[in-house]
Amino acid sequence: MSHLTTETFDANARAALGDVQLRGALRNATSLFGTRRLAAANGLQNWQELRTEARAIKDLVLLNLDRYLAEFVSNAESCGAQVHWARDAEEANQIVCRLANEHNALKIVKSKSMVTEEIHLNVELERHGLEVIETDLGEYIIQLAGEAPSHIIVPAIHKTKRQIAELFTEKLGIEPTDDVDRLTSVARGVLRQRFAAADIGISGVNFGVAETGTILILENEGNVRLTTSLPKVHIAVMGIEKILPRFADLDVFLKLLPRSGTGQQLTTYQSIITGTKRKQSDEGPEELHIVLLDNGRSRMLAHPVTRQSLACIRCGACLNACPVYQQIGGHAYGSVYPGPIGAVITPQLIGLGKAAQLPYASSLCGACREVCPVKIDIPELLLHLRAEITEGQKAEGSRQKAVGREPGLEVAREGRDQDEAVARSGIKKHKMEGVAFKLFALMMGSPGLYEWNGKAGRLFQRLVMRDGRIGKVGATFSRLAPPLGAWTRARDMRPIAQRSFRELWRDGLAEDRQRDQPH
Ligand code: SF4
Repeated sequence: MSHLTTETFDANARAALGDVQLRGALRNATSLFGTRRLAAANGLQNWQELRTEARAIKDLVLLNLDRYLAEFVSNAESCGAQVHWARDAEEANQIVCRLANEHNALKIVKSKSMVTEEIHLNVELERHGLEVIETDLGEYIIQLAGEAPSHIIVPAIHKTKRQIAELFTEKLGIEPTDDVDRLTSVARGVLRQRFAAADIGISGVNFGVAETGTILILENEGNVRLTTSLPKVHIAVMGIEKILPRFADLDVFLKLLPRSGTGQQLTTYQSIITGTKRKQSDEGPEELHIVLLDNGRSRMLAHPVTRQSLACIRCGACLNACPVYQQIGGHAYGSVYPGPIGAVITPQLIGLGKAAQLPYASSLCGACREVCPVKIDIPELLLHLRAEITEGQKAEGSRQKAVGREPGLEVAREGRDQDEAVARSGIKKHKMEGVAFKLFALMMGSPGLYEWNGKAGRLFQRLVMRDGRIGKVGATFSRLAPPLGAWTRARDMRPIAQRSFRELWRDGLAEDRQRDQPH
């Protein structure tokens, strides 16, 4: 599974659709989380106000990110933390590997963190000869399976209990069992030993508070607590967008995040870490390193539309609500960030040329926008990225034409690579689609043509309608008209009404006139 890439999204999605076990696991999990989220949100009377407030806080942060980051760094350092800046994944990985080297570390425990998945930290650490073990149960399962996470908060959502049991038997040599308590206790036994032997603990960060230099990490298993307090050195990798201005802002986000993610009122553990331990008898690390990661975030920040992607608090609610994710799961996206938010973040992180299929992985139904606790308008972002892809293709097309006409023409290098990549990206320019839209525009611009078309459609549909429906299973329509047949293969098409609105309107006017005639 982990070999899947963003560039092969269409093929990945098709393969996932054929995996009955995967779709069953996804259906159960996403509907369960969706139901729980709704119940938890309904339990708060001011849910909508909280969403609005959270978005306002995020907007404030994003418009003043430089100032809040400086405040965060100053306060974190005054409490003993050491802050490092990383422009991209490579720099972040280098910093972590250097720190591991400086401490002669061999064994590392790690808690669940999307940002470390984003930079492929494990691969880099292992390349440097370090042993890394994931300590979140879901992450541990997929690490054993050699896979990537398929959900932001439930990394092994795609696996059934039976598959996990088989994996444990194969990798850990236990007797076959489907007893969940037994499986959990086996994992706990393995992980406890690793905590005790670890030289360094690595975590992500849910929120960083500028006012106090605090980092906050949410979890349910207690593994973050152990990762961040047992080893002498704790390295926290944090995206620069995770900042909140004030400690009191946590109140809003702690109400929204657990409810949106798992339907809990609060996660079981909240690790609130402000600097290193003060006294020897205190719990906590002797050294705390916070790696602040940009990796494309400044680019997103620069544009008013894409900026809102950075408001995401990684709750995963949009994944559970998305009809596309519900069918294909996370691996098909070929990215650590799947689902609706992945479809907008990934192309911005790795470039449209490599992920041009993702913004099209949506029906634009708006379910993601409805559930998002920080009111991110994902459909707007998807349309924005689609427009950029189309512009890239057009630019590449006209350049090729220009080069064809004038063989000696110098083509500016800047922007060309990206446009070429978009043009090669697997998003096919459907000629038929272009023609269809031109005809549609022509028809909509001419009332006479529009009316004539409606009449012709009403006549034509008699040939293909069965029991008042078009596209009913077994109907001739899908067999007769291949391009339209693709639409009706899995769904009905609404027939054109027997009387158009214009006709009804005209009849109504005529009746009104008749009524108004003096008798
Ligand atoms: S986009 Fe919204 S719903 Fe989706 S993960 Fe981010 S915060 Fe949650």
